[in-house]
Amino acid sequence: MAALTAAAGLVLSATPAHAIPAFTPGAAGAGDPYFPDMGNGGYDARHYDIALTYRKDRSITARTRITATATQHLSRFNLDFLGPLTVHSVTVDGTAAAFRRTGAQELVITPRRGLVKGRTFTVTVTYSGIPRRIEDDALGVSGWVATDDGAVALNQPFGAATWTPVNDTPADKASYAFALTVPNDLQALANGEFAGRRVHGGQSTWRWRMPQPMASELAMIAIGRYDITAGRTPSRIPNVTAIDRNLLTSPEQARSFHELTEEITEWGADTFGRYPFGATGGIVDAVGVGYALETQGRPVYDRKGRPGINPGSSLVAHEIAHQWFGDSVTPRHWRDIWLNEGFATYAEWLHGEQHGGATAQERFDGLYATPADDELWQVEVADPGRNNLFAPAVYDRGAMTLHMLRREVGEERFFALVRDWYARNRDGNVTTADFVRHVKRYGDPARLEALLRTWIGTTGKPAL
Ligand SMILES: [Zn+2]
Repeated sequence: MAALTAAAGLVLSATPAHAIPAFTPGAAGAGDPYFPDMGNGGYDARHYDIALTYRKDRSITARTRITATATQHLSRFNLDFLGPLTVHSVTVDGTAAAFRRTGAQELVITPRRGLVKGRTFTVTVTYSGIPRRIEDDALGVSGWVATDDGAVALNQPFGAATWTPVNDTPADKASYAFALTVPNDLQALANGEFAGRRVHGGQSTWRWRMPQPMASELAMIAIGRYDITAGRTPSRIPNVTAIDRNLLTSPEQARSFHELTEEITEWGADTFGRYPFGATGGIVDAVGVGYALETQGRPVYDRKGRPGINPGSSLVAHEIAHQWFGDSVTPRHWRDIWLNEGFATYAEWLHGEQHGGATAQERFDGLYATPADDELWQVEVADPGRNNLFAPAVYDRGAMTLHMLRREVGEERFFALVRDWYARNRDGNVTTADFVRHVKRYGDPARLEALLRTWIGTTGKPAL
């Protein structure tokens, strides 16, 4: 009760204890065993409104306003936020709040009064500095990555906290709005739908919005000198693609990337169900991270050192398929990332076999020939471990699992299974246990459960 008195500023007297809520601090982590510091407890973030100004000296000045709902009586709560950015102010519902920074990435905020469970509040943080990137021995480069002509923010599995205060867990999805102000000779892109551009003085402000729920790991900002192509797909989905001007060697290159994105977005909708978001697209940039990322509504493809060479149809099929599997249907915990990567890899196989490439069976057979002592068989797909998040087993054995399901239940039921998985879980969070329950509806439950246990729940090369 001491915490209550201090935090809520209430005076306890003869009032029965049960009539007064006990205000307690929100947890400093979201409970993900792979990343205990990531995310926080005690509230549900609903919306991020991010206004960020980028300058030629690579510094930013920004204001992030988060709308959240308390899920407990909160005396204080945390956001994830990394140095070296400086926090200037924090308000809760417009009133200055006390804050301190502690631990690996905690911004601890104590509002003037406790927040009652169920109450929706806004927390506004102003900050500035030169954001940094994260270099992780096992998981590579992420966060705010400086490029020759600007910066790209890529957040998987962590990195959002390098440029915005955030509840950095895929379990807490929220809508986003971006107002990005850059010097006039640069462009600024982000997730989702274009919402306008305004020129003022030597700067321009670019607005983008993602009204569907988005995990922080899928938020994206790209600032640089781009050649931008805007259009609509045949089913009227806005398509905005951009290529770094230093990587662009011909107008045909921009057109071909735009058309490939359009074609694969339509293919995805035909194969998996309605496209999940209000816009599609892609960004080709010289980032130097060595990967492409399925940032929501608009993937980023790193092509550093490869001017004139667009990402191929297999890679685009992978990243666009993630819009359904990973982005719209999002694992709650990082150990279940095979639900993203297995599906996206299998989408490569499907797209390939429907467009004159190897069949999925041939891809499966090629991988199955991998020797039994290979790492492919030594990682447990549905719990690979923090450092194996991006191990080949997660991708390839994940895709092989889906192929085994296809063989078991047959063509028609398999595609129904995949489409229904999306339809039932659109905009939500899922676990592997949810997937197992789902799959068991499409055939002999015991056989299907055993198949999944063998392929994703154990190590060792399964017998066929
Ligand atoms: Zn992927």
